[in-house]
Amino acid sequence: MTRRKLMLGNWKMNKNRSEVPEFASTFRRTLGESLAAILETVDAGIAPSFFCLESLASEFKESGWWSVAQNAHFAQNGAFTGEIALGMLKEVGVSRVLIGHSERRQYFAESDQVVAEKVSACVQMHIHPIICIGETLELRKSNLAEKTVESQLRFAVQSLAPSSAFTIAYEPVWAIGSGLAASASQAQDMHKLIRATLSEIFDDSVANRMRILYGGSTKPENIDELLAQPDIDGALVGGASLQGESFAKMVYSAALASRRD
Ligand code: PEP
Repeated sequence: MTRRKLMLGNWKMNKNRSEVPEFASTFRRTLGESLAAILETVDAGIAPSFFCLESLASEFKESGWWSVAQNAHFAQNGAFTGEIALGMLKEVGVSRVLIGHSERRQYFAESDQVVAEKVSACVQMHIHPIICIGETLELRKSNLAEKTVESQLRFAVQSLAPSSAFTIAYEPVWAIGSGLAASASQAQDMHKLIRATLSEIFDDSVANRMRILYGGSTKPENIDELLAQPDIDGALVGGASLQGESFAKMVYSAALASRRD
């Protein structure tokens, strides 16, 4: 089955709203082809800070461009100082949210339980979660990588139905921001396991249509090999998405890979 590739940038807590126009013009200039033409074969988008969501959406209006938030709370509203609700994101045109990024798990104590509650809230609000899972270096060294990823996945999707719209991002914690990407075969092995687990939890059709993104130190120099793997359907890109030039090169690589499929 051919799955449309998806390239998502994650700006984390970087870039001010004033930097968005420069990013957009460099991105478009580097693409060398119209974004609308590229987005006929791939999906792409950015998860910026909340303040940049609207300015990015007004720079990129082409269909196939995803406006993604980096986080949301599971409650509809209430006394949760500093948090943002899914309904608030919807009001500014956001229909997809990263859930369970390892930095949320590591620095903001998001447990598997919290991740599951957020995923469930997304379903209720008809928001598409991009569910991030991945093992730490210690777990990989202890041969617990597969077990960890499988258990994070099972926990996160427990409230989802086969018809639910969601995406999985496999992001080994040791590869994020370290400059040390997983090898194409390490990533492919884990993606294959994730797909097999989705087949067990749901069924083959869910597993076959599910896009599973790889994230962790991707860049223009290593993206082709990763995208050539049969179970890697795109990437969640941190550092390399901050420059319009490098992110455009990666989106273009995904378009070429899709045209070859
Ligand atoms: C990320 O934060 O999701 C990520 C993959 O970061 P980087 O590409 O910088 O490793």
